[in-house]
Amino acid sequence: MDSDLAGVPGGIYIHIPFCRRKCRYCDFYSTTDLSLKSAFLNALEREIKMTDSRSLKFDSLYIGGGTPTVLDADDIYRIIETVGRYFNVLPGAELTLEVNPGTVTLDEFRFYKKGGINRLSIGVQSFNDSHLQFLGRIHTASEAVDCVLRARQAGFDNVGLDLIYGLPGQDLTAWRGDLIQAVNLAPEHLSCYMLACEGGTPLAQDVRNGSVHMPPDDLLCDLLGLTAGFLTANGFSHYEISNFARKTEDESKPVASRHNQKYWSFAPYIGLGPAAHSFIEPMRYWNTSDINTYISETEAGRLPLAEKETLTTEQLIIESVYLGLRQISGIDLLWFNHRFGLDFHSIFKQVIEELTTEGLITISDTHCSLSHRGLAMLDSVAAMFTDQELGALSS
Ligand code: SF4
Repeated sequence: MDSDLAGVPGGIYIHIPFCRRKCRYCDFYSTTDLSLKSAFLNALEREIKMTDSRSLKFDSLYIGGGTPTVLDADDIYRIIETVGRYFNVLPGAELTLEVNPGTVTLDEFRFYKKGGINRLSIGVQSFNDSHLQFLGRIHTASEAVDCVLRARQAGFDNVGLDLIYGLPGQDLTAWRGDLIQAVNLAPEHLSCYMLACEGGTPLAQDVRNGSVHMPPDDLLCDLLGLTAGFLTANGFSHYEISNFARKTEDESKPVASRHNQKYWSFAPYIGLGPAAHSFIEPMRYWNTSDINTYISETEAGRLPLAEKETLTTEQLIIESVYLGLRQISGIDLLWFNHRFGLDFHSIFKQVIEELTTEGLITISDTHCSLSHRGLAMLDSVAAMFTDQELGALSS
């Protein structure tokens, strides 16, 4: 399939696989064995050198994890410098560092800024100490506030905060309290994620054995509605199901996360580090998630790949429906029809009728998007599209 995205700048994601302590709900790959830091950094440097990215240019770099800030500031600096040497990173690229409160001093913030980091994503998660304790975070609410203030003091003017809602026992008033505190800190960006109970985590085990009860679906739906209503009324634009960007007068300075938009728009991205995923249409591949294998593979002169797959047209359609519905503007139907040589309205006629009748989507000639109620039911709405599509294409 021809890609309309030929020449579109891509993103680079670097996964730093260390955390001081594992949070109760987290299923991201990371280890608490910090003695592997230096071997990991050498392995990452080898992976960067071995990765062939000559056909691509990049306008975003995202250093995430794990907890990147358990590394020394010098190490982060070295990573940025090595990426700049081996990848075609465009001037003005967005360089994001994920930061965990309680792990960064003012001097370190200043050093990151000097090293080229121009955007921070701070994992606040909650302004309520008992919720932070429940989640197993290493920091308190006041440390999270200090972290944001320190970032500002160091001169960062593009700061995003991550928050989690839908915790057991959390009601609308408690969550509103978190949103008020977040807005008072005037971040450029807010990501509000619903707490997910991922298999294999201590949280999932506690839910299974009945010691923890997740909130009911109708409360989750109300929490999502409160989030969207409160933040849009307070100067934020809701552009993706979990993401909000502060509206600015200066349109040349958009504050939506450029890097995250790569994932939702089929732009190419390269993931480096254990468990990192890459996508260069139509290929998707990902690294081994075991840090020791990651180190030994690169020592042996091999890329630390776990698996690689070529996406079929059906898989690309499924992804574009799912990713399109995640965006508040919805699926761009002109793009979809042109891209796949199909007519969205005809192939999904029946499901469109059902979902419109149920009030879960709105559709025009140019866009298909989730309604307010549909936002809380993304997975089941997307499944209705993709089930029908697979049948239609294979018949
Ligand atoms: S700090 Fe982040 S990556 Fe590490 S365990 Fe907690 S949620 Fe997971």
